[in-house]
Amino acid sequence: MERMTLNAAPQWQFSSPAGEANYRAARKRYPAQAIVDLVALRDNMRHLVDVVGGPNSGTAVMGVVKADAYGHGLLPAALAALAGGATWLGTAQSHEALLLRKLGIGPDRCHILTWVYNGTEVPFDELIANDIDVSVGSLPGIDAVAAAARKLGKPARVHVKVDSGFGRNGFTEESFDAALAKLVPLAKEGVLHIVGQWSHLAVADSPDVPEFVASTDRQIANFNAFTARMDKAGIAPEIRHLANTAATLSRPEIHFELTRPGIGLYGYEPDPAMGTPRDWQLKPAMTLQAQLGTVKHVEKGHGISYGRTYLTPDDTSTAIVPLGYADGIHRSASGFDMQGAKHIDKPGGPVRVMTADGPKLYRVSGRVCMDQFMIDLHGSCDQLDVHEGDTVCLFGPGRGEQFAEPTADDWARAADTISYEIFTCLRNRIPRLYLNAADVLPADDLAKLDPTTLL
Ligand SMILES: *Cc1c(COP(=O)(O)O)cnc(C)c1O
Repeated sequence: MERMTLNAAPQWQFSSPAGEANYRAARKRYPAQAIVDLVALRDNMRHLVDVVGGPNSGTAVMGVVKADAYGHGLLPAALAALAGGATWLGTAQSHEALLLRKLGIGPDRCHILTWVYNGTEVPFDELIANDIDVSVGSLPGIDAVAAAARKLGKPARVHVKVDSGFGRNGFTEESFDAALAKLVPLAKEGVLHIVGQWSHLAVADSPDVPEFVASTDRQIANFNAFTARMDKAGIAPEIRHLANTAATLSRPEIHFELTRPGIGLYGYEPDPAMGTPRDWQLKPAMTLQAQLGTVKHVEKGHGISYGRTYLTPDDTSTAIVPLGYADGIHRSASGFDMQGAKHIDKPGGPVRVMTADGPKLYRVSGRVCMDQFMIDLHGSCDQLDVHEGDTVCLFGPGRGEQFAEPTADDWARAADTISYEIFTCLRNRIPRLYLNAADVLPADDLAKLDPTTLL
């Protein structure tokens, strides 16, 4: 009987023969691929826009695309977010904001806000010249942005960052009078255009913990107090924004004029305590898949990987997944099973493998290495019909129980972290490939993308 050509990854629908050729070329170049569905990104953004009341609600939505769009690829994710109705984009690092403009997303398309900098060495002149909104949250920051605006002869669009309780960027209540004393004359003079007032929430993703809910309530009260002080000083903000994904989904009272979802765009809820992506009508956009390396029989009691932290409980087969910590697979997602010897027992990250018995979830067995890790197949590879070269799935859209398909939340649990870190750690040596680009993007946006990445 001919071997069944079952595949653990979804059967990809290619848009064209060129898309299929790109897929084959990527597999030859690297034994793992991160495949991002632009329809999922667009639809997640559409949903987030609906959640705030639609495009004419008075609340705009920013697609937060910092850190290479949470590892999904800056430009494709930004364009898909715009296709889904985002009218703002946000990045932490200023070079990513500039890159968006350089790659062809002009001020006619959307506003861009950038926020992390040391206040003294950020390229304010370039940012202002490129119509990028900047955040200020320190006195040296105000001086630097004002100096750049004067030199250019063009007002800087500024969002005043206030520390409502997060304890990171922004003016504290105590320092705010000094900030206002600088901001007000600069605004009157037309050097600064005070566009916004904003802040960030610390625990909006824990609606089940009463003290966290109370702390978010306090942050909201503080935020409103800062607004009142700006009003009184004569520089009322035009746009207030406070809500991340968690608050966009669950705190409509603080949508204000703009919300800033990040993780929701990529299809995840911010914290598994909030449930699953499905509960919030979100769809994970990224699938991480790999092609198996060596698959072989191993006897009972065999140590697997560095430190012998996994001993095979029975005669079995093992398979190599050719991704390691140098790819961003967390070493903390290693799986330990010492067969009682040292009482170390910890499940590793999950991997979906198609077997003769249907899809099965296996776990990282032993320590994650630099470029690979092993899985114990708990049976004979011949009987399971698992072979070198088979495609396996580390995480995907999470289509439900019957698909046995892990999500980045499952990897986060195994690595004791959050889904955000699972994506953003994935190195760029793993090819990023894009599904459904032609369905989502207008022709001139499609033309901005690297054609070899389109499936
Ligand atoms: C990352 C970030 C967001 C988005 O947060 P999510 O939890 O991903 O929705 C919003 N605002 C700021 C300032 C951020 O740094």
